[in-house]
Amino acid sequence: MTSISLDAVGKRFGSLRAVESVDAQIQDGEFISIVGPSGCGKTTTLRIIAGLEEASSGTVLFGEEDVTDAPPERRNVGMVFQNLALYPHMSVRKNMEFGLSVGGVPKDERTDRVVEAAEMLDIEELLDRNPSELSGGQQQRVAIGRTTVLDPDVFLLDEPLASLDAKLRVEIREELQELHRRIGVTTVYVTHDQEQAMTMSDRIIVMKDGEIQQFAAPEEVYADPNNEFVAHFIGTPSMNFFDCEVARSGDDLCADLGFNSVLLDVSEGDRSLSSGEAMRFGVRPEHVDLVGDGAAAFNADVKFVEPTGKDKIVHLEVGDETLKAIVEGEERVEAGETRRVAFRAERIHLFEADSGDCVY
Ligand code: ATP
Repeated sequence: MTSISLDAVGKRFGSLRAVESVDAQIQDGEFISIVGPSGCGKTTTLRIIAGLEEASSGTVLFGEEDVTDAPPERRNVGMVFQNLALYPHMSVRKNMEFGLSVGGVPKDERTDRVVEAAEMLDIEELLDRNPSELSGGQQQRVAIGRTTVLDPDVFLLDEPLASLDAKLRVEIREELQELHRRIGVTTVYVTHDQEQAMTMSDRIIVMKDGEIQQFAAPEEVYADPNNEFVAHFIGTPSMNFFDCEVARSGDDLCADLGFNSVLLDVSEGDRSLSSGEAMRFGVRPEHVDLVGDGAAAFNADVKFVEPTGKDKIVHLEVGDETLKAIVEGEERVEAGETRRVAFRAERIHLFEADSGDCVY
């Protein structure tokens, strides 16, 4: 196992800047996810860690060792990709042994390591089958097993669950978490699925346009997003956003949304808030309450309701915009009703209109 340090790592493909000045200190044994939209540089960053892609700038350290120019075989990394690339003509056992044979590991030790990994992944029964005789989930376990037998210092996974159905995705996700708990190897996991990243990781790297937007624990990324992009990308359904203006209300400042005015718990001059400033207001659907009454409440018409089982997503009309709220599944809410609605004041955010930086 090892820590990984990325220091000002960049990658250009011709004039395209795929990765830009990435700094990240990954602790020994941590499970890190890199998450972000398609093309934001996740895979390129992973491939630079693996040594499959040469960084155009910056340095990569494994522990104290500078591996920036080291080829993949000198890094002891194990990799699992969405395309599993199992050898179709070899049994599961042979697939799992292959890397060990290439590495010159004696036959007895190979057998022991394969059996141990197979037990851990619950695929002992499948060792003599060929990949074509396995389900997608079983093939995925073999690919993971083939990597864990090599006892890598770093485990790199690139969208390994993308081709599985939703239920199996959750099942294998849980197995991967359990595996990580047991072997404790430093893991970097690439996904565009924020839910996977949130549930699996010690910390998350959120990327956009080749740059890290935030690198923090899932709870922090969720509760204290650095900017509007992170706030929007993390959380389903995503945060509600509205244009607003900071306005004076007696001695206080408030965010004037047109349909509602939300008191801000800051004095004028505090941070970058000043009266008259245009801002973006953000509130998560779970922090929008359909209340009986209250001073801060406002009227909103229910457009439609989406039941998810556990809860309901309520789409409300405010001015000519939509506000989403989440309420418990048992709560009665009907399309066409007018409801009193309030924001949980302590959970709202303000983002700078230009930069998108979170300032409140
Ligand atoms: P996805 O989720 O779609 O896999 P990603 O976040 O992993 O995307 P990358 O694969 O890292 O993104 O790609 C980042 C950018 O670099 C993209 O614009 C991509 O088109 C470009 N890119 C990646 N590899 C190459 C390459 N070998 N040659 C040229 N451009 C590349």
